[in-house]
Amino acid sequence: MIDVRGAKLSVAEPRHDNLPWLDFSKATSLNTCPMWGHIRYVQKRAPRGDGRQLALEAGSACHDVFAAARFATLFETDHNDFAVERSRRHFGTTRHDEMFRHMGSGEQLASRRFNYALEALSTSGYYDDPRDRRRTLQNIEESCLYYLQNYHWDYWRPYVDEDADFIGVEVPFNILIELDHRKFRFVGRADGLINNAFYDGQLEVHENKTGARINDAWAMSFHMSHQVTGYLEASKLVVPSGKGRDISNAVVLGLQIPLPRNVEAGGFVAERVSRNTEQAERWLKWLIGTYDEMMLYMDRPFDAPQYTHSCNRYFRPCQLIPFCQSTREEQEQMLYEEFEAHEWDPLSNED
Ligand code: SF4
Repeated sequence: MIDVRGAKLSVAEPRHDNLPWLDFSKATSLNTCPMWGHIRYVQKRAPRGDGRQLALEAGSACHDVFAAARFATLFETDHNDFAVERSRRHFGTTRHDEMFRHMGSGEQLASRRFNYALEALSTSGYYDDPRDRRRTLQNIEESCLYYLQNYHWDYWRPYVDEDADFIGVEVPFNILIELDHRKFRFVGRADGLINNAFYDGQLEVHENKTGARINDAWAMSFHMSHQVTGYLEASKLVVPSGKGRDISNAVVLGLQIPLPRNVEAGGFVAERVSRNTEQAERWLKWLIGTYDEMMLYMDRPFDAPQYTHSCNRYFRPCQLIPFCQSTREEQEQMLYEEFEAHEWDPLSNED
């Protein structure tokens, strides 16, 4: 049994860059099936793909809109110049300027912010794939419009500390975890660190999700999700003036693509969840257990256990079924000669 009470968490420094790391996607895949996790996220290899990864691309385009909306909530406030500068850094000058141009010059600040955020989708580079009739640009735009209509522009503003050059939009974290002989990093990116004016400016984590079915049942899982717990723990460490600051609440914002016919019944969910110390310990136990398991097969991925109950997850056959059915000799040939490199950077990829 892992006793995590002696664990030490701190912000990692550049000298820790060579340490093994876990992000939520890698940890989840290793727990779904260790063989899958090792091949896809540790060895970073996958069978040659036969096309685009539409779910990732669509999610990424939507996340651009979500980030733009957060920057825009600070336009024409005391933090205007800082928010513009950070948005420019995030999107690149050309793209930012294009989005800015689309704000227009109307009197209504709300509609100008709205235009700016939506333009992030038009400039994302996403385009339709004839094989996917659900994730079309039109459907994504309708979903994003609905999201922006329901966004609490005056209440959900990113936390800002200009002196520390910190803004609570797409906040990267790189946390060093030490326990006994273990030393590794937990990395990721929180979509938003928000001062929620509904709750007297309380600081909370906002996490966006897109999916094919977003409803109350979907939202329930986030009262347990280790992702939320981990992001809350990481956020406590990366907020500049946050030493000892209590961040125990999160809002998970789910958006369905395409929207259901009856949006009253679902399509957009803003689920408020909270975590306590005991739940944080459970997350850490899970993460450290996953790390131990990862290290066990680090240099011998072919020996990683096969969790065959996961071969048909989400009602789709796992990409690695032909690989897992093969002999060890064939597997080595497939992995090193036939599979292609599949880099996974938790600070830039979406999952
Ligand atoms: S085919 Fe099954 S056992 Fe093999 S990696 Fe996929 S889920 Fe795991």
